[in-house]
Amino acid sequence: MRSRKDPLTPEARSRRMSLVRAKGNRSTEAKVEAVFVADDVIGWIKHPRDLSPQPDFYFAEARLALFVDGCFWHSCPKCNRKLPATRRAFWRKKLEATRRRDEAGRRRLRRAGVSVMRVWEHELRDERWLIRLRRMLARRVAGGLRGTV
Ligand SMILES: [Zn+2]
Repeated sequence: MRSRKDPLTPEARSRRMSLVRAKGNRSTEAKVEAVFVADDVIGWIKHPRDLSPQPDFYFAEARLALFVDGCFWHSCPKCNRKLPATRRAFWRKKLEATRRRDEAGRRRLRRAGVSVMRVWEHELRDERWLIRLRRMLARRVAGGLRGTV
């Protein structure tokens, strides 16, 4: 199953993906989607409307929400990206608000019985995140959702 909400036919999707690849500026989400397609990761949809906040990807059977977060916008503690040189107070406030919103959102989903996995932009350089995801999915499905992650 591809994304059920994907309005594009597989052909159109593939054309678009190769265009994006050619430009070399695929968004983090598009990168993850390309890995899922190439690696036969199935059972996900994008931006499920019935969840708040909407994760980038949602695995319904495992009830697992996957967020793919940009290191700058979501204040990755590892990359610790510098603020732009101008309007620093504005940026500090904006990024702090995003950080709080992310945190509250993850809490809300977990309270609703959804496990949350976060993948940072910098983690997309290798596929350790994919191994982690597959492990979480297997555990969630095999455990009949009783196990916690
Ligand atoms: Zn990072």
